Amino acid sequence: MVITVEKTVSTDHFAILPSNQPTSDEIRDNILKNPGFGTHFTDHMAHVRWTNDAGWHGHEVRPYGPLTLDPAASVLHYGQEIFEGIKAYRHADGSIWTFRPEKNAERFRRSARRLALPELSDEDFIGSLKALLAQDNAWVPTPKDASDECSLYLRPFMIASEAFLGVRPAHEVDYYVIASPAAAYFKGGIDPVSIWLSSHYKRAAPGGTGFAKCGGNYAASLAAQKEASANNCSQVAFLDAAENKWIEELGGMNLFFVYKDGRLVTPRLTDTILEGVTRNSVLTLAKDEGLTPEERAISIDEWRDGAASGEITEVFACGTAAVITPVGELVSEDERIRLTAGGDNEVAKRLRTKLLNLQYGRSEDQYGWLTQLV
Ligand SMILES: *Cc1c(COP(=O)(O)O)cnc(C)c1O
Repeated sequence: MVITVEKTVSTDHFAILPSNQPTSDEIRDNILKNPGFGTHFTDHMAHVRWTNDAGWHGHEVRPYGPLTLDPAASVLHYGQEIFEGIKAYRHADGSIWTFRPEKNAERFRRSARRLALPELSDEDFIGSLKALLAQDNAWVPTPKDASDECSLYLRPFMIASEAFLGVRPAHEVDYYVIASPAAAYFKGGIDPVSIWLSSHYKRAAPGGTGFAKCGGNYAASLAAQKEASANNCSQVAFLDAAENKWIEELGGMNLFFVYKDGRLVTPRLTDTILEGVTRNSVLTLAKDEGLTPEERAISIDEWRDGAASGEITEVFACGTAAVITPVGELVSEDERIRLTAGGDNEVAKRLRTKLLNLQYGRSEDQYGWLTQLV
C-alpha cells in the first residue's frame, strides 16, 4: 500500500495583529485605480524573527509601519540582506494566486546561504504570503481586461538586525513580507526599450554574489543605472567581469535572443547570473511554441554580428516585475546595436501573452505552476 502524505502549507502558525487604522475602502479603491509601481503599501506585513539560539519564531502578521532598528544593526553597516520579488494575481472568479512560489523559496535559501543568513523553509516562505494575503486580499487589483497587467507585488526580505559592529554573520535576523499594488512595470507596456551597455561597471564577478538576490548587487549597479538614464536608456546590460566579452544579464532581468531559425538563446547559468523564475518558465514555454531553447555563452560580438546580419530577429528581457520586454537597441559609448531584421517582436509578444494567460488563470495550468493564496 502506498501512503501519500499531502504536503500542506498552513498559515495558522502566524499570529494576526490587525491594524486598527486600515486604509478606507474609498482611498484604497482610488490607489488601485492607478497604483504605479512600488509606491503604495498594504495595511499589514508578515514578520518572522530568527536568533541563533531559538531559530525561527514569533511568526506574525502585524500592521504595516516603520521598523525599529538599533543604529548598530549590522544590515546598516555591512549590507547583510537578501530579498525576493513575486506577484499575486486576481483571477476572474475573484480567487488570488501566485506563480511558482517554491522556486522563489528555493532561491531565497540559495541567497541566504551566500549571504550567511539563516535559511527559511517553504512552509514559512509560502505560509507568510498566505498569511499576509488573508489580511490584505482587498489590495489585489482586479484586471479590467486581458491587457490590464495589474497585480499585488510581494516583497519578502531578510535583514541582519543584531546590534553588533564586529564583522561576522549576525546572530539576530528578521524576515518580512511587504506588499504593493502594481500596474504594468514599464509605462510604455511592450514598447521596445533601449538598454545601456556599461563599458566600465560590472555587476558580478566569479565567486561573488551575482547569483544571489541581495541588495548589495543592486547598490553596485546604481552608478551604471545613472549612466543609462543620462543616455536615455531604461536598464543596463552587463558583460562578464573576467573577459568583458560575454553577455550576462540586465540589472534585474535575464536576457533572451531569438534567431531566424527558431533558436532561443539565453546565457547559461554561472555564479555571476541570477536564475530568474521567468527565465526558467520561458525556457519551458518556448518548447511548446516550437522554439529551440539553448543555454550557452553568448558574446557581445555575436549580438553585434547577429543584429547586423539579420540572424538575430529579436532580443528581449524578462523578470517578474516587467514580465517580458522587447529590447529595441543596445547603446554604448561608441556604438548602437539595432536589429536589421524583425521589428515586430512577435516571439516576445507570443511568449508574454502565454505567460500572462497562465498567471491570470486564463489558460490551463498544465505545469502546476500556480498556488492559490486566497
Ligand atoms: C530578480 C532578478 C531577475 C529576474 O528574476 P525573476 O525570478 O524572473 O523575477 C533577474 N536578474 C536579477 C539580477 C534579479 O535580481
